[in-house]
Amino acid sequence: MPFEEFPLKEVDMPFEEFPLKEVDQLVHELDKVKPAGSTVIATPMEDSHHSPCLKEMIAVMVHTAGTDNQPGEIHSIYQYCPECKIAVRVL
Ligand SMILES: [Zn+2]
Repeated sequence: MPFEEFPLKEVDMPFEEFPLKEVDQLVHELDKVKPAGSTVIATPMEDSHHSPCLKEMIAVMVHTAGTDNQPGEIHSIYQYCPECKIAVRVL
């Protein structure tokens, strides 16, 4: 029986990728389920590029605002590639 070589799973992330047409959709969805008092923001990641296409990725973050002596807390982070229309949760 011949040995079949499968490509190594190159994804080293704890969450699966999922297709997403517009980053706004994810922002909208997260807005509906976010914890009370938290904010959803989408920001370009200037130093992070999607490896298959080398496009700049967009980070979507759910975080709470900090108080005077407490920094804000990040609840979840997603990365979105507008070229491949793929999002992945990284935190
Ligand atoms: Zn891409």
